[in-house]
Amino acid sequence: MTLTQTTTLHNGVQIPLVGLGVYKMQEGGEVEEAIQSALDVGYRHIDTASFYGNEEGVGTAIKQSDVPREELFVTTKIWNDEQGYDETFEAFQRSLDKLGLDKLDLYLVHWPIKGKFKDTWRAMEQLYHEGKVGAIGVSNFMPHHLDELMKDAEVKPMVNQIEFHPELIQQETRDYCKKHDIAIEAWSPLGRGHYFDAPILKQLAEKYNKTPAQIILRWDLHQGVITIPKSSKRKRQEENADIFDFKLTDDEIDKISALDNNGRIGPHPDEMGA
Ligand code: NAD
Repeated sequence: MTLTQTTTLHNGVQIPLVGLGVYKMQEGGEVEEAIQSALDVGYRHIDTASFYGNEEGVGTAIKQSDVPREELFVTTKIWNDEQGYDETFEAFQRSLDKLGLDKLDLYLVHWPIKGKFKDTWRAMEQLYHEGKVGAIGVSNFMPHHLDELMKDAEVKPMVNQIEFHPELIQQETRDYCKKHDIAIEAWSPLGRGHYFDAPILKQLAEKYNKTPAQIILRWDLHQGVITIPKSSKRKRQEENADIFDFKLTDDEIDKISALDNNGRIGPHPDEMGA
């Protein structure tokens, strides 16, 4: 297992390539047990959000674990109705208190809320300058949102976390981010399991003696995409981590990407952000 394998963000911060997503995990027992088992498996990167309502459970699990804080990479996100300049400082402190941390590794603007996200970003820049967060970034930003953000930004986002799986490869957004050295993180990397039956995934799973989920996650890594699959089951957490011992060919990577049909699971950023 090489769950400690990292990539470097443009400000020099190291982020583990594979993390555990905790969306829809229940506050309390479920999220605490999921994180305990993930840490035991070797995960060192946890992706939560104030919207998920489970930051306290994430914090409890971190506190109870004997993994040193400096080995962990913890991300949370500011929700839509928390955005705004002053509001961001309050939201940040609320999240830190729930998580029981004094510093965050990555803080993301969850969605590009029109008329708000630039004020939110100014506050995030301040939090970053004050050393309260190791890296700041955005989520669900398309090139036009990033253009708008960067017109006045002092700090370029280090990360853009977007919906990314074989049926939604967001080439334009990824090209833009590559050009600006903004790392891409895949949310719903497994497409919540909707695509495991695709013939190319089944075929490659057979060839490499892996599962379709592992083929998809390996495809993320080949493209330099950080990935945060969610599972509260230890067996699946292990499976999702066991992706470092094989390589797909360029042709196979292209064949998986050819499944793209602009098939979103989540909302379109312009609808959510309006
Ligand atoms: P996902 O693609 O990670 O799929 C999760 C589902 O797949 C779960 O039901 C799980 O039981 C199942 N699964 C996991 N591993 C499996 C395996 N090996 N075999 C078979 N089934 C498996 O979906 P997700 O939870 O939506 O996305 C992952 C994370 O991304 C979230 O937990 C959250 O942290 C983040 N996220 C961010 C945003 C955003 O707007 N920034 C939106 C959604 C999710």
